Amino acid sequence: MPALGLKRLRRVLHHVTVSADSDAAVTHWQPGATLEHRVLSESRAPQDLDVEVAIIGGGLAGIICAVKLIDAGFKSFIIFEKGSDLGGTWYWNQYPGCACDISAYGYLPYLQRLGVVPPNKYVSSAEIRAHLHRIADHFGLRKHAVLATKVSSVVLNEVAPNKPRWSLRTDRGDSCSATFVICAVGLLSTPKLPEVEGMQRFKGLSRHTSHWQAADIDRCRNQRVAVVGTGSSSVQIVPELAAIAKHLYVIQRTAAWVLPRVDEPTSQEMRLQLLDEKGSQAQRWEVSDNIDEYNVNIQSDEMNKELQTQLSSYIKAIVKDQNIALALIPDYPVGCKRVCLADNYYPVFNRSNVTLVAHRGGVRQVTETGVLLKDGSTLEADVLVFATGFDAFSGAFSTFSVCGRGGESLSDYWSDGPKCLYGVHPGPGFPNFMCLNGPQSPGIIANVTEAVHRQTDHVIEVLTKLQHHNSKQVAARKDAVDRYATKTDSMFPGSVFAKCNSWYNRPRDGSDAPRLEGWVGSFREYLRQFSNDDLDFS
Ligand code: NAP
Repeated sequence: MPALGLKRLRRVLHHVTVSADSDAAVTHWQPGATLEHRVLSESRAPQDLDVEVAIIGGGLAGIICAVKLIDAGFKSFIIFEKGSDLGGTWYWNQYPGCACDISAYGYLPYLQRLGVVPPNKYVSSAEIRAHLHRIADHFGLRKHAVLATKVSSVVLNEVAPNKPRWSLRTDRGDSCSATFVICAVGLLSTPKLPEVEGMQRFKGLSRHTSHWQAADIDRCRNQRVAVVGTGSSSVQIVPELAAIAKHLYVIQRTAAWVLPRVDEPTSQEMRLQLLDEKGSQAQRWEVSDNIDEYNVNIQSDEMNKELQTQLSSYIKAIVKDQNIALALIPDYPVGCKRVCLADNYYPVFNRSNVTLVAHRGGVRQVTETGVLLKDGSTLEADVLVFATGFDAFSGAFSTFSVCGRGGESLSDYWSDGPKCLYGVHPGPGFPNFMCLNGPQSPGIIANVTEAVHRQTDHVIEVLTKLQHHNSKQVAARKDAVDRYATKTDSMFPGSVFAKCNSWYNRPRDGSDAPRLEGWVGSFREYLRQFSNDDLDFS
């Protein structure tokens, strides 16, 4: 997500030195990081657990939540994590080139408290993972974590009126009873493969980007590699694979707008700011406000067209073959699909070992030796890399069952599209069940870390209030859930996001109508939605 306001973007585009030396622009991935930790830990006996709070998911949100619980004096909590280590997105996504496209100064949590400063404005997946593990060690989170364990069901037991208790079961046979469930399952954590025939037929290596293994890089070396998709994951992995593959095919169904990233080393001034509590908070606000400014700018037809013109010239200046350059220019407004950030993507198409496979409709079928494209042509490859994204927002909730009041399942409740007050509270049927980064959260046009901080502050406030008032349960009022959903939905028609399909705006099963599952207003406006009047305590 660009922390670029329009004025800054104009400046950047103006000053970008267009390098004709494509090889020089490609960074080489050092395959130093190993993925041994992905191997599931040896089998263990199932456990019976009884806790106050069960957190599902040990990624960024689960980690922030655990730290805030500790800060607020809660001791009885557990984190269930399906990966063999904490880290979530940054545990799973270890493909070459993987990095965060939000400024680390706003993205990385607890810099000031840990006295840590990132070396650059943008950080790699490995650096983020290391930072999250640093937080886990610093705050003693590991002793609360049950790793390599996937929650399979969450069921409400109302043992007494107004006394909810949730029963969780895991794929390892554990059972856990908890007063509160906090679902921090990630908004982009369920990988999506194309729904095409023959996915199992391919004889070579086939890999979704989020399941990349360290050894995969060697299997790509001097091979014919095809990358399917051209979103953020593709834009990051393509330059790395281009540098080592015998030939790289980039299968583009729809072009992406790729904005310059322009990384920079952390200045001494920034360092001091990040190590200061107020300065660090101010930096987080600056990142959020920059994103809000970008969001306003892309909604304006005039500014968007100006941006499209500038970016098109930028692409044409970098990519020497003007037919390829034209094929790389999207035909929809900037920001409609989430923009990508990279300086090394477009130069790749000047390489003789890279072919852009465009205007062929994308992959229709996978064959034993490659893919069949929608226009009927075929492409042979030794490795297929699926950079085909994720089943966003409510997708992760379809990987386990949640059964609330009166036996109502969350998936039935959300069958017409998920409703979740502030992205946190599903509604009255799900007391003491809260989400972080749930559907209708501001995860599309926002700094996800900041959104999680604010949502978790709210959750802790709610838990503390329950304690102080000797209440046993909290749930969102139906009218509040409906009001927030109406407000969230109302931002979609007429916005830039309604002008194409993307992971955050796609027709649900059995429907033609795209629906937005996230909040796309300004972040400050989002924060103004929070009100204790929206919740019932009893
Ligand atoms: P994505 O943006 O959803 O891109 C998926 C790509 O797969 C699209 O280009 C899509 O084409 C293509 N595709 C799907 N089925 C296809 C088929 N049958 N044939 C050809 N192409 C096909 O997924 P992503 O790149 O993983 O990124 C998703 C989000 O994850 C990002 O927007 C970002 O929020 C997050 N992310 C962040 C970073 C980061 O830097 N922080 C890095 C990676 C991901 P169409 O456009 O035509 O559907």
